[in-house]
Amino acid sequence: MLHYAETHFRFPVSRLYRKEPVILIDAPFQVCPGAPCPVWLVVRNANRFPVYINEIYGEWKNANGQNISFTLPVQQQLNKAFHFEELEFQKPTGSLGLWLLKIFIKYKIGEKEQICERWNYPYLPPKTLAINFLKEQAPKPSGWIAGDTHVHSSYTSDSVEFGAGLSVLQKAAKSVGLDFVCITDHSYDLIGDKRFQKMKKEIANVETDNYPSLLAGEEISCGNSENQNVHLLAFGNENYVKGHGDGGRRWWNTKPDLPIQKAIEESKVFCFAAHPKLQMLFAEKFLLKRGHWSYKDLTENKISGIEFWNGFRGKDFYKGRELWIKCLLTGHKLLPLGGNDAHGDLNCYTAVKKPLWNLKCNNEHVFGQVRTVIPDTGKTPFSELPENLYITDGPALWIEKDNNDKFILHAKSTEDFGKFLSIAIFRGKDGAEKIEQIKIGDLLSYDFEINLDNNLYTRAECETCMGKFAMTAAVYSPPVV
Ligand SMILES: [Zn+2]
Ligand SMILES: [Zn+2]
Repeated sequence: MLHYAETHFRFPVSRLYRKEPVILIDAPFQVCPGAPCPVWLVVRNANRFPVYINEIYGEWKNANGQNISFTLPVQQQLNKAFHFEELEFQKPTGSLGLWLLKIFIKYKIGEKEQICERWNYPYLPPKTLAINFLKEQAPKPSGWIAGDTHVHSSYTSDSVEFGAGLSVLQKAAKSVGLDFVCITDHSYDLIGDKRFQKMKKEIANVETDNYPSLLAGEEISCGNSENQNVHLLAFGNENYVKGHGDGGRRWWNTKPDLPIQKAIEESKVFCFAAHPKLQMLFAEKFLLKRGHWSYKDLTENKISGIEFWNGFRGKDFYKGRELWIKCLLTGHKLLPLGGNDAHGDLNCYTAVKKPLWNLKCNNEHVFGQVRTVIPDTGKTPFSELPENLYITDGPALWIEKDNNDKFILHAKSTEDFGKFLSIAIFRGKDGAEKIEQIKIGDLLSYDFEINLDNNLYTRAECETCMGKFAMTAAVYSPPVV
């Protein structure tokens, strides 16, 4: 996956090559009530290509015809490898909902003055920032916490991709309404234990009170049953686990360093299969020997769950969910995980479309959009396996036992995420799932009593009129005695 796209990849010859640093503006896609709305100027590789930022100016607009113009004189020479400069200018107050931010950067490289809108990526039209100022806090059961379980920081930094700084991620997490963030940089970017420990130390130092917690982890490249590279998410591992197979730095040898089970054992923590059915470019399959997770890989190794919701609901989500259900129906109690695989990408996702040729921009991997929500036990998330869980990009949906030992399915949305279009219960039994659509009215909140009967498991899914979706983990019927 190639994210905050990079334009200094010249080999063998690239139309995207520029003798300029990457310059872009980024800001969280949503802001919770009472949370700040930080906007950052991101500059990469100014150590090689120093740049003078003259000024930044622009305009906020919303659907009610309100607008706010601003000019920010920056007048700063930048010359470091990474800059994440927070910009202070007028932000909308009072009027909530969606605001668009059109923003321009006036900069100078040598004697040449230039202006770009949003970014200086070649051959990629500027995309206006869209920030949704929520009217209410994102719905969540009380005593539960929400996190993004797949995030790349600036420790993922190579010739084609880079992530956001740790303090940037922490601040953005607060704005979008996350309680924890799992930093899962690639094993092939962390390279060794020294850099991994440096990242852990930096995480400990950037953590600010009352801000979401950052959890150091790793996205380990390891070998599936066909000896192809697949990705494994580990959260809170003490030591680095090696995995250089598909990093591209060792192009003459793409063989995985460790098989899946060995990587899990070395991590000494619960591990999850990342994007099990990721759709990839032929070059990734062929040159980096990347593969998919199979049923065999998931069930013959000590896997705790599958992150099949990897930022958006495309083919890989549906194929991943199918594989998860197949595991559930055969008695393998895997947890579903939701993460975004964002590399920076706080507002939209930019990436290489055709290597060395052009870039793309869409909303597939935006930091904090898809969340995994778990009960707060006071312990570090995933230091133990959550007993209950749901994944969502908006509404809350969870199954809980009430005081009378009855199972209740709760569904909650807000005006920001829309009313429910459908709520369905899935019961797994005898190798198949039965779907039961629940009759719903015109409300934002429901509580249904559900019967687990003698099914193997029960789970639920819901969707709102704004296309927001949530699904629960499987709840298992108590054994019949
Ligand atoms: Zn990955
Ligand atoms: Zn990743």
